[in-house]
Amino acid sequence: MSDKKYKTVEAPDGYVGEGFFATKLSEVVGLARSNSMWPLPFATSCCGIEFMATMAATYDIARFGSERMSFSPRQADMLMVMGTISKKMAPILRQVYEQMAEPKWVIAVGACASSGGIFDTYSVLQGIDKVIPVDVYVPGCPPRPEQILDGVMRLHEIVKAESVYRRGTKEYDELLKSYNIESK
Ligand code: SF4
Repeated sequence: MSDKKYKTVEAPDGYVGEGFFATKLSEVVGLARSNSMWPLPFATSCCGIEFMATMAATYDIARFGSERMSFSPRQADMLMVMGTISKKMAPILRQVYEQMAEPKWVIAVGACASSGGIFDTYSVLQGIDKVIPVDVYVPGCPPRPEQILDGVMRLHEIVKAESVYRRGTKEYDELLKSYNIESK
């Protein structure tokens, strides 16, 4: 056994104390937001089945604070679009997005939602970013539940790093304006 003596160094005054640590408001807000994102699953086809597995016990999306599905735009933070979106469906998707309260984020899950996938046809929307802004794209046809969770975790990183003042900035208004969506 080593008889080496270890010396602990005292922290300078003002840097320690019970129940005290220094941080930034935006980091606390980002942490809280990212760990309590309630999904609105907009599932139209096969990718939706993968999402069902993502919710179930083995993959357990509840570990990320997202077990509370919102099948209405109310209280939903994270719009997850899973499946083929036809051009007829696009205005409905857009309406759902517009009805969600800020702050809100969007994940395009799978090839169909991201780009139309294999359905390069007259009736299928070639990616949901033609009608609403997208934050994260999850590749795959279908993506496995691990990939969907990876998309959720990537969105967490975006949310954590986002300024609390982003919504309402000129850039954000311009982004919405480019989609012809009115900022609230
Ligand atoms: S990406 Fe593939 S699995 Fe997902 S909805 Fe389209 S066809 Fe189905």
